[in-house]
Amino acid sequence: MRLRAIARYGIRSIPGDEREIIAAFRRGEAVTGPAIAEFERRFAAYHQVEHAIATSYGRMACYYILRALEFPPDSEIIIPALTFWVIPEIARRAGLRPVFVDVDPLTFNLAPEKIEAAITERTRAIIPTHLYGQPCEMEPILRLAEKYGLVVIEDCAQAVGARYRGRLVGTFGTAAFFSFQMLKGINTYGGGMAITRDPELAARIRAQAESEPLQTPMELAQRFIIGYLARCAISPRGFIWWGFPLQALVSLFGHYDLSKYVWEKIRPLTPFPASYRRRYANAQAILGLRALDRLEEFNARTRAHAERYTSGLAGHHAIRTPKVINGAEHVYYQYSIYVSDPKLTARRMIRRGIDCETTHVDLCSELPLFAEFSADCPGARKTTRALQLPVYARLRASDVERILRIMREVTTDLPPIGETERSELRTGAATFAGS
Ligand SMILES: *Cc1c(COP(=O)(O)O)cnc(C)c1O
Repeated sequence: MRLRAIARYGIRSIPGDEREIIAAFRRGEAVTGPAIAEFERRFAAYHQVEHAIATSYGRMACYYILRALEFPPDSEIIIPALTFWVIPEIARRAGLRPVFVDVDPLTFNLAPEKIEAAITERTRAIIPTHLYGQPCEMEPILRLAEKYGLVVIEDCAQAVGARYRGRLVGTFGTAAFFSFQMLKGINTYGGGMAITRDPELAARIRAQAESEPLQTPMELAQRFIIGYLARCAISPRGFIWWGFPLQALVSLFGHYDLSKYVWEKIRPLTPFPASYRRRYANAQAILGLRALDRLEEFNARTRAHAERYTSGLAGHHAIRTPKVINGAEHVYYQYSIYVSDPKLTARRMIRRGIDCETTHVDLCSELPLFAEFSADCPGARKTTRALQLPVYARLRASDVERILRIMREVTTDLPPIGETERSELRTGAATFAGS
């Protein structure tokens, strides 16, 4: 066996990043310095908007935007039922009420036709998530927002560089936020960005972001060291020594998703952890500038991997490859397929050295944390049958071929995907919308 096992996630980094970080510490420009304003300026220019404000986290960019909009307390904010749990929690922290709207199980994104029924006189905003790197159907969303006077705040955390009808995501709404966590399209080992064209909104966001204390050099050094270790651990040559044997062993007993032990625990964010109340650092912005220069290239690599999967799995009896909406340029933060038995497939894959995740984000409409906002969202529930194939830019074309070959081998004896849907129907569960 070749000594490469493929982890579910990959971290984007550029040769020389470490050298740049160390140089920034040596110059005394790790915490503050000119790169922050430069990164904000270049990030805004890339999106052809006037204002960008760097923050400690993507979620804090969302928080500052919501606060800056000064909605009345308990205003309702429409959020997809399938998204990262921190966003509805942030809305609640901002004194607002998340209202979950169902997603289209084939695109994983907000189902535009389900939005209108959720709008009340207390609705103030919609936060469409461009989930897994695919732009939402923005045209109907903007039309509804216009009709009811709602603000649109785009969650671009998974989709930096994705386009809808030729235009970058983040440029359609009143404001947008991005994340620079390790696994995201631009990695600066944490951090986020808010963008907007509205100068007054930008000033109110900036006033909040800049009132936070600076990171200490120690906190910052820790952030980069942990990031570096994580990057080694999930590289194909690192993962084979721990993640692969551990999960292959566990797979003998059933399907267990160990990633829940790595992710942050789902919990109320009151009070905010101290790390949230921090400013974005100059050393992070230095990495951000480098990553922005390479963004389109990295996205193109990821997209090529995804396209290879889509052609290689076309017509497979047990698999449905991702649906891309008309006019969308998907950046494939995740390559999410439906397979008739995702858990069995994941177990077989890890034994062959390929780590595949099942559901990547959260079924927020059913989380105990949001019990008071719970909603029946059958489309979102169906997405729990999805399986993610590793698709990140760091993979080589030969890795992708290997994953494809193993994927075909371990799924030959699975029932056809349509049959599983029919049997779900018989047992009373819902089926996929469309086909
Ligand atoms: C990563 C992510 C966020 C938040 O980003 P942080 O920087 O971790 O706060 C928000 N929404 C989605 C969909 C994400 O994937």
